[in-house]
Amino acid sequence: MIAPSQFSRQTSAARRNDCYVGRFAPSPTGPLHFGSLAAAVGSYLEARAQGGQWLLRMEDVDAPRTVAGAAEEILRQLEAFGFEWDGAVVTQSERLDSYRAALEKLRAAGLVFPCACSRKEMADSGLARDGSRRYPGTCRSGLPPGREARAWRFHAPAGEFIWHDAVQGEQAEDVARDVGDFVLLRADGQFAYQLAVVVDDAAQGVTHVVRGADLLDSTGRQIALLQALGEPVPHYAHLPVATNAQGEKLSKQTLAKTLVPAESVSCLWHALHFLGQEPPAALQVETLAEIWQWAHENWAIARVPRQRARAILDIQPRHSRESGNPLGGADIT
Ligand SMILES: [Zn+2]
Repeated sequence: MIAPSQFSRQTSAARRNDCYVGRFAPSPTGPLHFGSLAAAVGSYLEARAQGGQWLLRMEDVDAPRTVAGAAEEILRQLEAFGFEWDGAVVTQSERLDSYRAALEKLRAAGLVFPCACSRKEMADSGLARDGSRRYPGTCRSGLPPGREARAWRFHAPAGEFIWHDAVQGEQAEDVARDVGDFVLLRADGQFAYQLAVVVDDAAQGVTHVVRGADLLDSTGRQIALLQALGEPVPHYAHLPVATNAQGEKLSKQTLAKTLVPAESVSCLWHALHFLGQEPPAALQVETLAEIWQWAHENWAIARVPRQRARAILDIQPRHSRESGNPLGGADIT
């Protein structure tokens, strides 16, 4: 789908740390907006500050949600904004055999089971923290008589997963209690995001996951899966998610504005500010190279606000520009 020669880059970082492999993994459901830019900036600067690699992965495992051409557009945007990634871009839709093999490994170990429950049958079940239905365990010890498997679920182990998040602090999640046995192979034949992401992180040797806090509630499930697959658990840092004034995460649905290269300096400045880095106001009229230089020299993950979400209205520019606010958002433009 994406020619590696076209989009692969080599870093010229003088300081090389083989113990740090970071990544940015957008879903190609549309072009990058301010929220996804902030996540990219945070994971990129932290990887470079540690002398590590920064890999790119297109998370298009959810085929029905993938938009044709969006992956290429995201790469063009990242390039125009001056990001330099390491190695070839990995595309999930080309890795289905790896997900199948991981599911088979879990099946051989007795850690997954077929599930016949329809969405309607689970409508009465409680909600997990991320809004998905908590699985009541109906098919855990075998399919009900006369029923056929629709999906495959992971046997969530009992007990709490505890980890330290470099931004959000100590975290604990009881996956079995809060989420229940979760789906790895969906009824529509698609592999679930939770499976694909851990298989990819393991295959790419990712040691540090820096991403938006909307995925904080997926972390317990991902640690459970990594442990079941015998893979190392990476370090985590969850950055605040950008919201509009109504507290809605920026997305295509909330009409977040697409990033345009002409506003790259201003957008980067605002992303740094959003991430608590306090860039000097004068940098807003400097070149892309100069704002990146400042960012590389001054980035400190310790300054990122310990918040799950932050409204971009809180970080309005000190002086508005003639071209309007590059942050976009339906209520701002
Ligand atoms: Zn079931």
